[in-house]
Amino acid sequence: MNTKKYRVAEGGKLKLSAFKTDETGRGSEAEALARIDERRPKLAALQERLYAEGRQSLLMVLQARDAGGKDGTVKHVLYGLNPQGVTVTSFKVPTPLELSHDFLWRVHAHAPAAGMMAVFNRSHYEDVLVTRVHGLIDQKETVRRYGHIRAFEALLSDGRTRIVKLYLHVSEDEQKQRLQARLDDPHKRWKFNVADLKERERWDDYTHAYQDALAATSSKAAPWYVIPADHKWFRNDLIGQILQDTLEDMDPQFPEADFDPATVEIK
Ligand code: AMP
Ligand code: MG
Repeated sequence: MNTKKYRVAEGGKLKLSAFKTDETGRGSEAEALARIDERRPKLAALQERLYAEGRQSLLMVLQARDAGGKDGTVKHVLYGLNPQGVTVTSFKVPTPLELSHDFLWRVHAHAPAAGMMAVFNRSHYEDVLVTRVHGLIDQKETVRRYGHIRAFEALLSDGRTRIVKLYLHVSEDEQKQRLQARLDDPHKRWKFNVADLKERERWDDYTHAYQDALAATSSKAAPWYVIPADHKWFRNDLIGQILQDTLEDMDPQFPEADFDPATVEIK
């Protein structure tokens, strides 16, 4: 599967309406599920090499509207990896302590150490999305923050962290169905948050905020991908492919021993 067409070009404008939410690719769901199963051991082997090498790291940023599939992506795409080599951080409404620092302070602390893969379930991008839609920051501050974000990601990238940023793109109708399911199903109700309905009313404001943020911060070192996410199986297959391509490109190697194994005798 060619993932290039989902990548957001550097600079210029972005129209989310130009990206489909309900794409299924050319194959069937069964084919995608088979591909996902086949890929799982490959991802696990690549991650083991990343961990063993201990020199590079990978950061996956997940952003989406409510019920966009961030939690499901963490659950399904990371399944089968060694938990010891993965950290997942879910960023919530900032605490008073976090708010008393700059917006990247709490984020930097969760950037991946060498050998690790880190996943951000929401991220520093909330600080140019929800804050902007709610008028907590103005346009000037938003643009200033884009600059801080680009510099921060360049800093991580210079320190051998590969960054992949994924916007899970769902339709307004699909979000409605998922929120309704959370309301109806007692086992999903714990995820229902009445406040999400207020955010849903600001659908177009979020669309503009996302378009702006993605266009301003997609770079070669830290590209954004728009992931068609109405179909969970397509989403999981595509993200798995992006993860595999990225890890293969990083090409981590098992380290050479710094001694001659032939000279060591275990008695
Ligand atoms: P959930 O992802 O459902 O657990 O919800 C987390 C909530 O925290 C969402 O409503 C986010 O918009 C909010 N949130 C996360 N980061 C920030 C931030 N930097 N500023 C304001 N709200 C945030
Ligand atoms: Mg929520």
